[in-house]
Amino acid sequence: MGDIQLQNTLTGRKESFTTLHPGEVRMYTCGPTVYDFAHIGNFRTFVFQDLLRRFLKSEGYRVVQVMNLTDVDDRIIANAAAAGIGIGEYTEKYALAFLEDCRTLNLEPAEQIVRATDHIDDMVALIRRLSEKSFTYPSDGSIYYRISKFPDYGKLSKIDLSGIQAGARVEVDRYEKADARDFALWKSPKPGEHFWETPIGPGRPGWHIECSAMAMKYLGETLDIHTGGVDLTFPHHENEIAQSEAATGKPFARFWLHAEHLIVEGEKMSKSLGNFFTLRDLFAKGYKPSAIRYLLASVPYRSQLNFTMAGLQQAASSVERLRNFVTRLKTERFGAGQSEAIADRLHQAEEEFRAGLADDLNTAQAFAAIFDLVRDVNTAIDRGEFRQGDVAATLAAMESFGSILAVLKDDDAQKLAALGFGSSEAPLTDVEIEQLVADRQAARKRRDFAAADRIRLQLADRGIILEDTRDGGVRWKRK
Ligand code: AMP
Ligand code: ZN
Repeated sequence: MGDIQLQNTLTGRKESFTTLHPGEVRMYTCGPTVYDFAHIGNFRTFVFQDLLRRFLKSEGYRVVQVMNLTDVDDRIIANAAAAGIGIGEYTEKYALAFLEDCRTLNLEPAEQIVRATDHIDDMVALIRRLSEKSFTYPSDGSIYYRISKFPDYGKLSKIDLSGIQAGARVEVDRYEKADARDFALWKSPKPGEHFWETPIGPGRPGWHIECSAMAMKYLGETLDIHTGGVDLTFPHHENEIAQSEAATGKPFARFWLHAEHLIVEGEKMSKSLGNFFTLRDLFAKGYKPSAIRYLLASVPYRSQLNFTMAGLQQAASSVERLRNFVTRLKTERFGAGQSEAIADRLHQAEEEFRAGLADDLNTAQAFAAIFDLVRDVNTAIDRGEFRQGDVAATLAAMESFGSILAVLKDDDAQKLAALGFGSSEAPLTDVEIEQLVADRQAARKRRDFAAADRIRLQLADRGIILEDTRDGGVRWKRK
């Protein structure tokens, strides 16, 4: 296991990653609130977490990741009531859709995916523990956390508490930045609302307590890594720290990693702004899971990702380029022997790829290492400098990149069909294909490579694969 640098929000610095238990990473991820379909902004954060766990595993760590599903909160209660159904029935559809979306994006499932409503007892026990230590006070049947009792409050988000009125309370789970007030651990039921009868009274949990309770239940009192999107830093993660550390007296999480937002025209993609796409919206427009995953992965997680359809098109061609390269290695025949230069080049690419990821998951740098390699090997092939004996090692290198990228396997069509997005278009006729191939050749001749790429993608979408031959011609075949 080599050195891995991670930017820790808690310390504000890049630090060498270490684990509390040798070789084992215990990681908690705030999952979605299942009140609607997740949007691709949410998936930006989930893809980052997937890259992180895949990279840590490739470095030899055992990863134990816990992800929650928030299946009770203000919005869920309101929406379920409006729909005239129970919260369980209301959230089930979105929980299943979320898990399906994760599979579609090749997100490895967390070792434990846990629902808040299955852990009410654990939350009640944690609230009682806090009450025993006088960190809580009751008010109108609800129970609040007393922030003034926890001097470390603000250490994660660096929020300035001066000017905050002690004892002021906030009723809702999600509130404005810089509004640090005592938050509800337990909420008394309003008439007609879903509630649980418990030793601390009837009611339901506040949003923050679920993550502290479930994280510590499955991962122990101190976690190695806690992740989420930047919007969770305050108040959610600050409150998780306040709850957990007040109860245990131990550090709650050693590394806090936050993904920057996916934005659209300068604004955060979010439900409330109405500027969001779900995966299904994009599939309906004809985009593929692999292109979406690639786009979300390609911008380093600490930078904002500006979402555009053009960017998604580009991501689709990047994925095609990688897949075509692998196809070329598998289908072409090369001269006998083995080249030392190629072996060295592969080694260099593997080192650069790893170095990129080990530098706080710099995917831009890591992915560039792959494309540089693809370019160089293609050139070597064209010059006849690539040998049959180099194929296995080159494919192995691509496979190891692919184990983290997770876009090389050409299974988009099956995934889309499973979700009901199969192509209903009639297959292209040979004449139509020949015409498009000729259009593409013409575009290449006038050096309009963007147009040529577009045609190639258009053909690929209809199941036609092109192979450029060495003499400048093109062969095509149906998938
Ligand atoms: P939520 O369902 O709102 O709790 O969000 C689930 C995850 O998505 C959290 O980690 C959020 O921080 C993250 N998230 C929400 N909006 C965005 C966005 N526009 N870009 C990136 N991550 C986001
Ligand atoms: Zn959380």
